[in-house]
Amino acid sequence: MNKLFVGRNKRVVNKLWPLVQKVNRQAEEYRSLSDDELKAKTPEFKQRLQNGETTDDIMVEAFAVVKDACRRLKESKDPAENSVEVTGHVLQWDMIPFDVQIMGGIVLHRGNISEMATGEGKTLVATMPLYLNALTGRNVQLVTVNDYLALRDSQWMGHVLRWLGLTVGCIQGNQDPETRREQYNCDVTYGTNSEFGFDYLRDMGMAHSKEELVQRDYFYAIVDEIDSILIDEARTPLIIAGPSKVSTHMYDKVKPSVEALYGQQFKLVAGFLQQARALLDKPDATDADKDQAYHLLAKVQLGMPKHKLLKRFMEEPAVRKGLERVDIEWHSDTNRGLLQEVKQELYFTMDERGGESELSEKGRNYLMPSDPTAFVMPDLPDIFSAIDADASLSETEKLEKRKQAQVEFDRKSQLLHNISQLLRAYCLFEKDVQYVVQDNKVIIVDEFTGRPQPGRRFSEGLHQALEAKENVVIERETQTLASITIQNYFRMYEKLAGMTGTAATEATEFKQIYKLDVVSIPTNRPCQRKDHNDRVYKTQREKYKAIIDEIRECHDRGQPVLVGTISVEVSELLSRLLTRANIIHNVLNAKQNQSEAEIVARAGQKGAVTIATNMAGRGTDIKLGPGVKELGGLHVIGSERHDSRRIDLQLRGRCARQGDPGSSRFYVSLEDNLMRLFGSDRIASIMERLGMEEGQDLSHPLLTSSIERAQKRVEQQHFGIRKRTLDYDDVMNKQRSAVYELRHEIITTDDSRALLMRFIYTAVAERVEAAFASKVRGEALDTAPLQEWLGRTIPFPFAPETFQATASPDDLTEAIMKRIEEAYQVKEQNEPPEATRWLERYVMLGAIDNLYQNHLYDMDDLRQSVYLRSYGQRDPLVEYKQEAFRLYETLMGGIKDSVCTNIFRYQLLHDEDGQTRLPDLDENGELAELPAAKAAMAQRIQTMHQQYGQFGTEEQPSQPMQPVTIRRDMPKVGRNDPCPCGSGKKYKNCHGR
Ligand code: ADP
Ligand code: MG
Repeated sequence: MNKLFVGRNKRVVNKLWPLVQKVNRQAEEYRSLSDDELKAKTPEFKQRLQNGETTDDIMVEAFAVVKDACRRLKESKDPAENSVEVTGHVLQWDMIPFDVQIMGGIVLHRGNISEMATGEGKTLVATMPLYLNALTGRNVQLVTVNDYLALRDSQWMGHVLRWLGLTVGCIQGNQDPETRREQYNCDVTYGTNSEFGFDYLRDMGMAHSKEELVQRDYFYAIVDEIDSILIDEARTPLIIAGPSKVSTHMYDKVKPSVEALYGQQFKLVAGFLQQARALLDKPDATDADKDQAYHLLAKVQLGMPKHKLLKRFMEEPAVRKGLERVDIEWHSDTNRGLLQEVKQELYFTMDERGGESELSEKGRNYLMPSDPTAFVMPDLPDIFSAIDADASLSETEKLEKRKQAQVEFDRKSQLLHNISQLLRAYCLFEKDVQYVVQDNKVIIVDEFTGRPQPGRRFSEGLHQALEAKENVVIERETQTLASITIQNYFRMYEKLAGMTGTAATEATEFKQIYKLDVVSIPTNRPCQRKDHNDRVYKTQREKYKAIIDEIRECHDRGQPVLVGTISVEVSELLSRLLTRANIIHNVLNAKQNQSEAEIVARAGQKGAVTIATNMAGRGTDIKLGPGVKELGGLHVIGSERHDSRRIDLQLRGRCARQGDPGSSRFYVSLEDNLMRLFGSDRIASIMERLGMEEGQDLSHPLLTSSIERAQKRVEQQHFGIRKRTLDYDDVMNKQRSAVYELRHEIITTDDSRALLMRFIYTAVAERVEAAFASKVRGEALDTAPLQEWLGRTIPFPFAPETFQATASPDDLTEAIMKRIEEAYQVKEQNEPPEATRWLERYVMLGAIDNLYQNHLYDMDDLRQSVYLRSYGQRDPLVEYKQEAFRLYETLMGGIKDSVCTNIFRYQLLHDEDGQTRLPDLDENGELAELPAAKAAMAQRIQTMHQQYGQFGTEEQPSQPMQPVTIRRDMPKVGRNDPCPCGSGKKYKNCHGR
């Protein structure tokens, strides 16, 4: 670990000890209180916080109260106190926080990450800061990785929290909105990250009234297994989606040609492989022969990086080294153009690391000999400027031509994108590794947990490409109705904290993205785990054989073994090998995960052999069975190094809890992905130097550290990818929070009328401003478009004099607003006030929802097309930001217009003679138009709550929009004045946008 980190950590921990002692002394003092007196501390603390003390001020006392409450529960003779029912089992309460647990609690209270090893009792640690922060009366939350743990921990830890007078709730996937609201109304709420995130999306993006909201606060959250949630899961945003209105993909159409193209390439590289074999097998192969062979193999690597035979070749360290040389040669600056030439020999190239594919000219010719340019992207800006420069065209013709060019461009991007995704589906994705096919569906297998993720889909059309490849039904593209990354969801909280066994390796990321410091808490008892050096083999075959041998050895002695694998495929392979060796074992993987927690809990019994894909059963403690300590405790075997050191450490951490003995070892082969892609030539050369025989293994500290360096390289790359996702999402995030804020205001406001007038005011002011623009240029004031707009939008006449009062834009705006106000008042007087208020909200939400929805669709589109533009030299992110801003302005303008139009359309009906009259009232005195709409809306929300999991229903709910603002009470803000929000920016650049 980083030396700087270790040094800093020591200092932080040293400073915490005195506080821990204070808590202990305080807890001693509380011993003399009666139970009731101790319980009375809760209201007392609440009062003190109300009177102005802070949670920091009362931390020591509050933690001491929890500690002493735990002691009383443990010592109590009353079974109702001494035991608690947790997920159907009765557990004795036997925990009083250890000193290190108190320390971990302080770190959590301060909004940082407590790194505490597995089995140190993080569940209990969290109770102290949860209790303390809940005393503020606000909702504090504990975030778990799955529903089971949320339930378990809320019942288990709820025991002490409830004893102290707090209420504890738990969110589960199947709860209805009513129940959810009750849970959030508790002092402390347990639940998973995705439940919290989806509730947020539903509350902010879909609810239509205050009564539908379920969450109440984004105050303080403690995230358990924070690395898993904020780092591993962060790559897939939470999405609520419905099927899109239009489907434009061509996967089914292009699949046959792409499949043929793939076959063609397969033949081609088979030839290369054969030639390479022949060259290398020559008894008197010269250096030139070998070099030629490496070049051939490098071409295979470009064209079909996952080819099985290529993997075989790469078992040879010399080959690996040779390939790396060629790679450097092709990518060096002095050889510009060389790589391009090589690529032309192939039909397409596949960048495995970057995950992209590219058609070559040869490929284009193959796909469409008659018109290979069908696959070349037109250069839109060039075409546009050519059109603009063409003097023979009228303005309308130019517009028409531009439109045509745009359509052609979109069609081609779609086509190329579909081809590229299909090629990826064929070359890089393997059935039963990254996905499984079940019930005519392609289901993602989570890379880290090995669990199938029904409902989740690969993005950007890849999922459909896989469906085409596997000949299952190609599902309609989905359209995003609401989405947020987990990162951005948690960044909303006023205070965030986390705990995990493994955070130090990612300390930089936590700091940079979440502003969270990692504090590594010492273990309660010294750690007895023995980590052996890695064993490295040439081939996977040899490696697996050695793993089975080691398992057998332990098994014969009765020592339990936990084997961690990276993929389902490998778990199943090892399982088959074990069955053949007559070793009874349990497998935890994607396909059978129901009783996961129980199986993991038994993994420490004598003679147990358990195979688990990484992280399966995380959060469940493995206790050693009787007699196992003497055998050395649990032995952990890693069947492969993961891309991330953190995941390996997690696996290691499964043994040797609370000072138990235990050991771990990782097995590596040069065929492993990590080694193939990122193993430095250093590993190859070390191995060559040491000279390896078939079946032999190498185990050397030097190797272990080289492997870790390779992992570091991958980690950095992944961090880059996550950061990039976030960069893109930041754009959406700003828009989303603005839209949601406005939406929330509409739902919760007591004065929807004022809000409505704000919308109208801004819309009018902008138009007036535009009218005055001509005057600024020295021309005559042109109010014709303004009048035309008013005539279209607002269905009552304005006196012509109105437009003569034109001393300034503000005067004119005022005059128009005055008239609108008057008209509105007349209507209001004739309508039931509740109906009017409801209508106001309905019109504003309707405008936001419809348009924001389309906006999201456009943003999805933009994201894709921008990605294609990266084929050119432009930075897609910059383009994305500019374009997104433009779309956003259009959205805002559209919303305001829509509100203006609709509010009067709903409210005012014109008689033929031009007189306004009241809309018809039904027998209840309500507007006749309303009830139907009202009912439709109520129904819409219900389906949403029942069916919106990660994926949507038939129906299209709604979406929100953006800050239109201008406060009614200070309406005279000029476009160039400072914005009233206090940002310091000009009004037109801030809320006046
Ligand atoms: P972690 O989440 O840190 O891996 P858990 O919270 O699952 O650990 O706790 C592991 C085990 O340690 C549990 O069985 C729990 O009962 C036990 N434990 C935790 N804290 C204490 C304590 N202070 N005294 C006794 N047992 C404890
Ligand atoms: Mg835990």
